[in-house]
Amino acid sequence: MAVETAGEYDVIVLGGGPAGENAASYAIAGSSRTAVIVERELVGGECSYWACMPSKALLRPVEVRAAAQAIPGVPVGALDVAGVLRRRDSFTSHHDDSGQVRWAESEGIDVVRGHGRLAGERLVRVTAADGSTRELRARHAVVLATGSTAVVPPDLAGALPWTSRDVTNLREVPSRVLIIGGGVVACEAATWLAALGAKVVMAVRGSALLAKAEPFAGAAVAASLAADVRFGAVLDSVARPGARDTGEGNIHGGPVEVMLGGERLEFDEVVVAAGRKPATADLGLETVGLAPGRAVATDDHLAAVGEWLYAVGDVNGRSALTHMGKYQARVCGDVIAARADGRGIASRRFSASADHGEVPQVVFTQPQVASVGLTEAQAHAEGLEVEVVAVDIGTVAGAALHADGYSGRAQLLIDRVEDVVIGASFVGPEVAELVHAATIAVVGRVPVDLLWHAVPAYPTVSEVWLRLLEARRG
Ligand SMILES: Cc1cc2nc3c(=O)[nH]c(=O)nc-3n(C[C@H](O)[C@H](O)[C@H](O)COP(=O)(O)OP(=O)(O)OC[C@H]3O[C@@H](n4cnc5c(N)ncnc54)[C@H](O)[C@@H]3O)c2cc1C
Repeated sequence: MAVETAGEYDVIVLGGGPAGENAASYAIAGSSRTAVIVERELVGGECSYWACMPSKALLRPVEVRAAAQAIPGVPVGALDVAGVLRRRDSFTSHHDDSGQVRWAESEGIDVVRGHGRLAGERLVRVTAADGSTRELRARHAVVLATGSTAVVPPDLAGALPWTSRDVTNLREVPSRVLIIGGGVVACEAATWLAALGAKVVMAVRGSALLAKAEPFAGAAVAASLAADVRFGAVLDSVARPGARDTGEGNIHGGPVEVMLGGERLEFDEVVVAAGRKPATADLGLETVGLAPGRAVATDDHLAAVGEWLYAVGDVNGRSALTHMGKYQARVCGDVIAARADGRGIASRRFSASADHGEVPQVVFTQPQVASVGLTEAQAHAEGLEVEVVAVDIGTVAGAALHADGYSGRAQLLIDRVEDVVIGASFVGPEVAELVHAATIAVVGRVPVDLLWHAVPAYPTVSEVWLRLLEARRG
């Protein structure tokens, strides 16, 4: 097939997920620079169609129903599964990316469809679905933003397990589901599957859910998940004699036979939530001296090679969260713009410093888990001298109003030497919105004394901050 040469752009971005979109947009904003996004599937990426958006659209009705159940006098009906799935589909735009393509064009960004690979310095080769190939050359920068893909262990592949893509885009709710894994994706999927009517078993290799969070967070989720959680699980075999791939989101044919810790169990679907790997296997990394299949390491300007190759989002392995990928992309876009204009990049704006220990995350389980910064174990591992302050969120008037019997816990981790908050964790119904105040305190290294003057409104759940500071005073 002939190679069409060579579209020239100032900036070429491989991958049109949230990170790629932001990198392209920031790199050319307010300038006459040109940018192109190369996308092999849908502009908007994993987050928009198979990850954040559909999962949160499935979890919100579950949360709302639980909130109503916690208040006497509020009528509570069963979830309308078809209605929940319809609303989920509206959030994924029925896998139609024309809205995001229009956004790109409105920003002055071209979109080229196809699989992009590096073919040398500042050179990208794109293979379209029909096999035709074209070359793109970058005047300033190439940004890798190809995200990550689900890991399916080879011994499970034959049973056609669902990945996160299938379980977020489910069309029917399987009656009996085995979820392999105990991390965020596993716990969130268990939450919506159980609420939509599935009988869920979780096979967790370790001894806790959400092992990277504070131990009390995983314990609270385990205690309230409507699932049979098996810790220390050993999967002896997973087989699907009648396996048949009927396509994404459909129930694959035949039951799955599982030997779990010596017990024989049968499921309609198995969901593998065993982690993700950076999408770098077929990216032409070897043409620029990098190793395929691994995360693309970067400096804090998100540069991977010289001043021309950058990597943002899941692909660089720094923090696999949409908001962190977008943050890196803003920094990266600003760095590219500054370098193209011959400006310096010494100021803090040009460095992705928050990647190092200031990352916020929300797990939308019941209860929710919202955290930022270090956990106690991480602080100890870093040799920091810390004080742990924890309170029961249910003692706050705003929480009592929020739900009868509100149960939750808030914890601050205070660096004793600097007297600043370096970590915060909240567990409880709808605590997601509490975490940004903590993020500001952590990133701003606000002295605890000064936090006294950040007065939370009455009667809100945020008054837990006051309880925490009072507990600190003793
Ligand atoms: C089930 C689930 C739920 C999640 N929920 C949340 C959440 O609530 N909040 C949160 O912050 N994070 C969440 N995440 C993580 C989040 O989805 C990722 O961190 C985010 O999508 C990463 O964005 P990205 O732009 O780096 O990559 P992606 O979103 O993966 O986009 C990469 C894009 O690159 C394209 N691509 C790949 N290779 C090539 C190539 N060679 N040529 C051309 N195009 C290519 C892909 O098709 C894709 O469109 C969730 C993840 C999962 C699996």
